[in-house]
Amino acid sequence: MEKDILLILRKVSEEMGVKSYIVGGYIRDKILNLESNDIDITVEGDGIRYALMLNKILNGKIEIHEKFKTAKIQADKYTFDVVSARKEYYTHSGILPDVELADIVEDIKRRDFTINMLAFDIKEGMIIDLCNGLDDIKNKLIRVVHDKSFNDDPTRIFRALRYSVRLDFKLEPHTELLLKQSIANGDFDNLSTDRIMNEIYLILSEKNPETIVKLMKHYRIDEKIFDGIKINIRNLNTCVRCGDLLLYRFLLFFYNVKKDDLDYLNEKFNFKRQYTKGLSDLIEIKMNLYTLKDDIVAYNLFKDKKIEAINAIYTMEGENIKKIVDRYFEVIRSLKLEINGDDIKELGLRPSPIYKKILDNIYYDKICGKIRSKEDEFERLKQYVEKVKRGEKI
Ligand code: ATP
Repeated sequence: MEKDILLILRKVSEEMGVKSYIVGGYIRDKILNLESNDIDITVEGDGIRYALMLNKILNGKIEIHEKFKTAKIQADKYTFDVVSARKEYYTHSGILPDVELADIVEDIKRRDFTINMLAFDIKEGMIIDLCNGLDDIKNKLIRVVHDKSFNDDPTRIFRALRYSVRLDFKLEPHTELLLKQSIANGDFDNLSTDRIMNEIYLILSEKNPETIVKLMKHYRIDEKIFDGIKINIRNLNTCVRCGDLLLYRFLLFFYNVKKDDLDYLNEKFNFKRQYTKGLSDLIEIKMNLYTLKDDIVAYNLFKDKKIEAINAIYTMEGENIKKIVDRYFEVIRSLKLEINGDDIKELGLRPSPIYKKILDNIYYDKICGKIRSKEDEFERLKQYVEKVKRGEKI
């Protein structure tokens, strides 16, 4: 299959009369014998036309971004990102660069680390290695190519840590020095909070986020970006029994956040709604953990909370809490009533929101253990309906 892809890319290049290259992570991963299906292609020419021609052969799904002269193709298990070779100018530290068409050498030079600066010349069938990336891969080193690299784009600090853990590489000593200097100089102040959070999400989506977050702490990055809010470094590699893995890990990451910090964090980072809700659920559960003694308390505390928040509690807390959470998921949450709205209707009440109230009350009685059979449910239902008919509050 991969040989076929190479042939197809060569064909498209030849038909268009342009040079094209496979660049970046795919080449790095191939050399390291790692599975990779994300193929980045740089075209010395019109990348969009190239992508359209490529997709004619691949018959995948294509997305075109005219503004950035890029296109993405999803075909089979592969994702192709096609760009026109470009050169970038940094105006201010941390701000997205201006774009100008250029040739492959310029394109390679704008990249973050030497191990990502390899390009495979599709026509010639050979690797272009401008900055000794092959040696650095062999020696397992992350190295920047110029001293202003982290200052130009401080997201590279996160990227360096991500690669070093994912690939089990070390920061080359001078690169590590520059990274420390950049952190100390406050380069993070030039990054938007959106870009910071994007990097945090990328870290939390890795296989081993815990070691990366530990490195963030080691280099005191958390102090620079979270103003004294202590991030959690435990259990970050765990997975979740149900729900959204990224949200779950986000909640573990912010497990130590106090109620008073919540508004500050939300305002500064403008988290997505789900994440804000998850965080406030987590804090509320934590504040009430000491009340968790029986099923009914668990039901009341957990019923409108995000599953990921309950799972984070499960992961972080001791055996007693784990038992209650297990019971909540395995027994309480799966309790179902055998009666429904039709039964209320048959007893002569017209449909209205009172139906929900009645069913909720009976459900609650069931969790409390006051109801044990379908007959009990009916009996209870009749009592509630009578009460409503008499105009009494239930
Ligand atoms: P993966 O997608 O597996 O994390 P990748 O190496 O493909 O690894 P991407 O984030 O997809 O990484 O980026 C693609 C390429 O773009 C990288 O190989 C890198 O050379 C370049 N790149 C990405 N972000 C930056 C950056 N902030 N500064 C310089 N180059 C970058």
